[in-house]
Amino acid sequence: MPAYAQVSEAEFLDHRWQAKHSITNAAKLLAALEGLVPEEFFRDAAEGFKHAPMSVRVSPYLLSLVDWTRPYEDPLRIQFIPVASRRLPDHPKLGLDSLHERADMPVPGLTHRYPDKALFLALDTCPVYCRFCTRSYAVGLDTEQVEKFQLRVNQERWDKVFAYIASRPELEDIVISGGDAFQLRAEQISQIGETLLAMPNIRRFRYATKGPAVMPQKVLTDDAWLDALTRVVEQGRRLHKEVALHTHFNHPNEITTITKAAMDRLFERGITVRNQTVLVRGVNDSADTMTLLARRLGYVNVHPYYVYVHDLVKGVEDLRTTLQTGLDIERRLRGSTAGFNTPTFVVDAPGGGGKRDAHSFEHYDRETGIAVYTAPAVRPDKLFLYFDPIDRLSLAGQARWADPREHQAMVDEAVRAVCGTSSPPRDLLSAV
Ligand code: SF4
Repeated sequence: MPAYAQVSEAEFLDHRWQAKHSITNAAKLLAALEGLVPEEFFRDAAEGFKHAPMSVRVSPYLLSLVDWTRPYEDPLRIQFIPVASRRLPDHPKLGLDSLHERADMPVPGLTHRYPDKALFLALDTCPVYCRFCTRSYAVGLDTEQVEKFQLRVNQERWDKVFAYIASRPELEDIVISGGDAFQLRAEQISQIGETLLAMPNIRRFRYATKGPAVMPQKVLTDDAWLDALTRVVEQGRRLHKEVALHTHFNHPNEITTITKAAMDRLFERGITVRNQTVLVRGVNDSADTMTLLARRLGYVNVHPYYVYVHDLVKGVEDLRTTLQTGLDIERRLRGSTAGFNTPTFVVDAPGGGGKRDAHSFEHYDRETGIAVYTAPAVRPDKLFLYFDPIDRLSLAGQARWADPREHQAMVDEAVRAVCGTSSPPRDLLSAV
């Protein structure tokens, strides 16, 4: 890119340079893309920034991977830079915290939903911000659309989280997320790791970071961070407790020679890395793309673990696709490579049911786009509904959603199809 033509290779490969030069507003984007895209695209993006639920942060590395001759179709641009012209109205059932993470927080920043596992939201910043973030209620800076729930690094808050985890013998497994573990300082990686390893009830945990997919430079140049992680992994191994890294690649174009060098470094240190992909319209909603992604992940020793059907996130309806699309891709993908390198497609049940195998719905009406799931191990008394985006439904389905009087009727039909009774109890449905 012309904007980075004078940058030396050493600088470009330094995570500090990448972080310092990340794009955070329309003016910086304009400066970086001068001469590459038409004026009209800038106006579209500047307007898109105003309506986005997430603040914008994109590294020069990511900008360099975008094909700027086709910015509207590029899978990386779609994920990180909003444009107003592609916005779609929100489905009436969308929410800011659709997984109800806050409702399951016994202390701020710790979601305890599954019997033996908890999610520790250690901080609220990331090296980049994804438009589709399911945690747009908390992650990143306030935007014109969303005032964020605060999850800053705070020792007092962390102490309460640690005290809760230690007090619950049934908790064995912790996800350390946020935000993003790439943003934790080396001593914070050590503190969290050592504290958890010292708890007799904790048998395994993972640091969650999108970092390897968006700024692999850090793995190559931040030795203090990588050494801290390595020490925790090695200490865990001595204690027979598994410590892993979970990351988030969505498209094969995110896997470069720089990624390969970074992932080789993690592999040499014996660090297990698993990947969680989000199914995003225009990015990876084809079997060919998802198959290539799984293969390339295998080449860099990352296990494809999950593909999430896109959560019911507000403000990014253009990025969601149907559950059926996910099912069709899975059918084509499974069998194309080894089973352990094949991700499981899941729906994170809206309203707090946890992850369900995408195929395990009790009912799925392709016309209304409503799928019904149960979660016997998490909330045996509830039903959980997933809603396809309206613009992807048949004309008959779209017509029903256009009439607000039909909304409850469609939900009632779906619930009746599962319960087999004309008047199911009112509190059966999880709130969405
Ligand atoms: S890196 Fe993860 S937590 Fe951060 S914005 Fe992206 S999806 Fe959200």
